[in-house]
Formats: sequence, structure tokens, C-alpha cells
Amino acid sequence: MDKNQLQDLKILSAKIRLDVLKMLEKRGYGHLGGSLSIVELMSVLYGKQLRYDAANPKWEDRDMVVLSKGHAGPAWYSALAEQGFFDKEWLYTLNDGGTNLPSHPDRLKTPGVDMTTGSLGQGTSAAAGIATGFRMKGSGQYVYLIVGDGELNEGQCWEAFQYIAHYKLNHCVVIIDENKRQLDGTTKEIMNPFDVAEKMRAFGFHVQKVKGNDEEAIDKAIDCAKEVEDQAVCIVLDSIKGSGVPYFEQLAGNHSVKFNNDEILGANHEAIKALESFIEGGSELCTD
Ligand SMILES: [Mg+2]
Repeated sequence: MDKNQLQDLKILSAKIRLDVLKMLEKRGYGHLGGSLSIVELMSVLYGKQLRYDAANPKWEDRDMVVLSKGHAGPAWYSALAEQGFFDKEWLYTLNDGGTNLPSHPDRLKTPGVDMTTGSLGQGTSAAAGIATGFRMKGSGQYVYLIVGDGELNEGQCWEAFQYIAHYKLNHCVVIIDENKRQLDGTTKEIMNPFDVAEKMRAFGFHVQKVKGNDEEAIDKAIDCAKEVEDQAVCIVLDSIKGSGVPYFEQLAGNHSVKFNNDEILGANHEAIKALESFIEGGSELCTD
């Protein structure tokens, strides 16, 4: 990837992150931490790696995304809106009655969403089935399965992983968002997943663990996964829950945030200003 392409992806990431912050503030609450941790992944997928046609979301030869950690829907919706799947104004109807953008993704409501998710664990089986279908068709399409590290508490994940590994379904790119936190604490405290990368290796996967909020690292890992033959593939994202906004990275309860006090609103407005300035080309983005 050349410098210009990388800069384009960084701008797309900033736009997605900005949309997430604005739409959740408008809603008044929402799944902030887990949405922000996959912003760079969404940027690389929709900005470079995925095959799709935003004007024809049901294009038969498209690649698919299964966001098994469905509560991160706001990051997905933002990526879809930025790439023209639907009007950006829709973002501000998140979770309203009658909206096309429910809190958790619904394939019957949102252009570009191919699988309904949110009941944790179930997306893994769905993606395994989709990849099996692609293999039967011989079409070469990919499905990108995005799983949370807290979600690994669900036994169904491991059942699906065993199937994907056994059948060497390497067109199902399993991406685990290892942000080390889940709804009400750290994954280590709540239900220690131990060494996720080693576990996936033990299941038979080709595993890469990469910086999870770095477009270049994610892009390289996906390129590499596509080169792997005769083995299932997994990318573990070493990510930060709440990534890109220092205040939200530190906030203990950043899984679901209520925008109901001056401190939170102030931090959000500061982050929005920094992102807007970066997008306009007026500043470096500092996330330290
Ligand atoms: Mg997590």
C-alpha cells in the first residue's frame, strides 16, 4: 500500500469514528467502546479489501461481512454510509422506532448488511455456512467474520471455529477483536480467555496477531491471510476498547456510554473537533 492509499484509509477511519461519536451523542447512549475498537478494521475492509457495489448491495459476487459482535453496529453503519450504501442522515435515526439502523444489525433493514447479528456467538456459525456456500459455488468470494473477545465466552464460537478449521475454509477470514474488555469488566476478570491466538493455533488456524487500530497492519494481515492455502485463517486484533479518544479509552464503563453529563459531552466535543480538523487536513491526529 502506498502512502496516499494509507492516508486515504486514515481519513476514512477518522470519518467513521466521527460518525460514531456524533450518532451516539444524538441517540444519547450506545455501544461506544466496541464500536471504536473496530474503526480501522472497517476502514480497511470498506476502503480497500472488500469487493462490493454500494449501488447494488445484493450484487451476487460481493464479499460479505458478518459482524458477530453485533453491538458494534454503529461502526459498521458509519462505514456503509461513508461508502454510499445509504444516506448519511440515516445515522441519526439509530435505534429510533421504524429506523433502518437498529441497535444491532438486521439484514432485512439495512443495505449492505448480509447477516442479522447481536445474539453473541451466532454470527460465527452463519459465517461458516456462508463460506461453505461460497466454496460450493466455487466463486472465490470472501466472508469476513468479526468476533469480540468477550463473545468468545459463547461455546458456539468454538464449535464454529472447529468446523471452519476442519474444512479449511480459508475464505472465511476470522477476525477477533481482542480489546481485552467486555460488557462489565476486563475479559481476564470476567471469564479469562487466556491466550486467544494460541488457542486458535491449537484449533488448526493460521494465526496472525497484529496492532488492531493500525490500518497498515490490518491490511497486511488480510493480504497475508489471502495467500494462505489449505488452512483456515485467523487475525487477532490487539485493539483498544474506545480507541481514538483518550477519555473513552480510559473510561471504565466504556462498553455502553450515556452522553448525559458535561464531562462526557466535553470529551466528545473535543474529539469531534480534532477529527474534523484532521479530515479537513488541518492537523495531525494525536491519540496518545
Ligand atoms: Mg471485547
